[in-house]
Amino acid sequence: MGCTAERVAEALRAVARVVAEHRDELVRLDREIGDGDHGENLNRGFAAVVSKLDAEVPATPGAVLKLAATTLISTVGGAAGPLYGTGFLRAAAAVGDAGELDAAAVAGALRAALEGVVARGKAVVGDKTMVDALTPAVGAASAAVAGGDVAGVLDAAAEAAERGAESTVPLVARKGRASYLGERAVGHLDPGARSTSLLLRALAGSAR
Ligand code: ADP
Ligand code: MG
Ligand code: MG
Repeated sequence: MGCTAERVAEALRAVARVVAEHRDELVRLDREIGDGDHGENLNRGFAAVVSKLDAEVPATPGAVLKLAATTLISTVGGAAGPLYGTGFLRAAAAVGDAGELDAAAVAGALRAALEGVVARGKAVVGDKTMVDALTPAVGAASAAVAGGDVAGVLDAAAEAAERGAESTVPLVARKGRASYLGERAVGHLDPGARSTSLLLRALAGSAR
């Protein structure tokens, strides 16, 4: 049994709640090495996604992900808006018009999302960005597919993303605003890596 459109919509509502709960934390992290808007931007974007889902839940998981993508692209702004938007758009394309998503489809969607973020932002692991959280998450998700269910795949992804986000603390940033700070970014958690780990943890919690 897989994840229906309704379940994917529920998962996005869970993401919106977690982003709202962590809005101030993300603002603080972005104030330290950026311009302080990451929490506000993401909170606005996911609140807009929930409003759209309240009006109507699209028929397939892919259509729900695509609605999230277009909404994030038009409401989040900054660096993260187009990056998350592209990630969701690629995830939507990867799942196609399937009526339900199984563990392999979810892992494939995460991989497609990473490829979209990298195609758009050109960051590699170690650049102190969301890619540092998403890359290990994708590896862990793929490894958890065999014998696992959707919740198991997302749990593995969230766990790896949390470690990946923590790994950004000692790094100098090579992409985004934090790259202007040089050595002064060292010792700070990257806000986008943190939001990626929160997003995956919310998805995992919702799948359980
Ligand atoms: P802005 O810096 O425009 O205010 P946000 O504050 O919303 O945008 O997002 C900042 C986050 O975006 C960073 O913490 C980082 O994780 C991510 N980011 C920035 N540039 C890139 C990039 N080229 N590739 C991947 N992620 C990036
Ligand atoms: Mg910012
Ligand atoms: Mg900004």
